[in-house]
Amino acid sequence: MSPTKNPALERLAGTLGHPRLSPLRFGPVLLRSNGPGIFELLHVDDASADPARLAPVEVEALADLAANDRLGRFRPNKASPDLVSGWICRPRDTESLGESLESLLPGGLSDWYATQATDLRVVPFREFADRQTGMFRKIASLSDPEACEVARACCDVRFCLRRRLWPVGEIGVDAAASKSDAPCLEPCALLLELARRAHRMSQEERSTLHLGETDLASIAVALDTAIAHPPSDLREGDLSNPAHPRRLLLLREKLLPWLPEAARGKGE
Ligand code: SF4
Repeated sequence: MSPTKNPALERLAGTLGHPRLSPLRFGPVLLRSNGPGIFELLHVDDASADPARLAPVEVEALADLAANDRLGRFRPNKASPDLVSGWICRPRDTESLGESLESLLPGGLSDWYATQATDLRVVPFREFADRQTGMFRKIASLSDPEACEVARACCDVRFCLRRRLWPVGEIGVDAAASKSDAPCLEPCALLLELARRAHRMSQEERSTLHLGETDLASIAVALDTAIAHPPSDLREGDLSNPAHPRRLLLLREKLLPWLPEAARGKGE
C-alpha cells in the first residue's frame, strides 16, 4: 500500500518545480528546486552564495540550527531574520522536505497551504483581543490607532518575516515581496504580550514635555540606533526589557506624528 500523500507537501513540491513560482521564501528560509524531486533550503541571505561554500546540514540537524541565533540566544519566533546563515540542506525527498520546513518554521507549510484555498480564514486583531482572558483581557480596550502601533512595532520586517494577513485598524496587510511567502494568519504570543504592555503604558501617568524639531530628530536617530544594535544579552521574548527593539519601535510609532518629515522613515 502506498503511503498517504500530504496535499500541502505535494502542492509545495509542485510550486517549487515551477520556474515562474520558484524559489519561495518561508520566513528567513529560501526554498528552491534543482530538478524534479531535488530541493535545497538555505538562508535567504545566502541566495546568491556559491553553494559549494555553504556548510551542508542534514535534515535531522535543522531543529538545533533554528533553535538559537548566532549569539546562542533562543529564538522564540522562528520567522525572525536572525536565523544563522552559511548552511545548505538538501532533503532526500518530498517527505524529508516537509520535515525540514517543520524544523525551521513550524506551521509554515500548513499556513502557506491555507492561503492557496479560496476560503482562507484569518483572525482579525479585534476578534483576537475580544477572546482574551485574565491579564490579557484588557488589550481589547486598545483603540484602533494604538493596536496599529503595536502591530507595526511587533511585525516590522526587522523582527519577523511572516507576512501579516490579519487585519488591524486601517493599516493594510503585508505584501509577500516585503517579507516572505509564509503567512501570519493570527496574532502571535509576542504580539499579545506587546499589546498587554502597550495597554499598561497607556494607563500610566502622563508628563508634558516640550521639544523642538531638532531634539525630536535626535531622539529618532537615537531610537533607530538602539533598535539596530540591541544589547547582546537581550532575549527576543523578554519584552519587560525597556531596551527591547520592539518596545523602542513602539515608542517611535507613538512619536511619529511629532517627528520632522526627514525623521519619519525608520532609518533602515
Ligand atoms: S503577529 Fe506579527 S510578529 Fe507575530 S508571527 Fe505574526 S507577523 Fe510575526
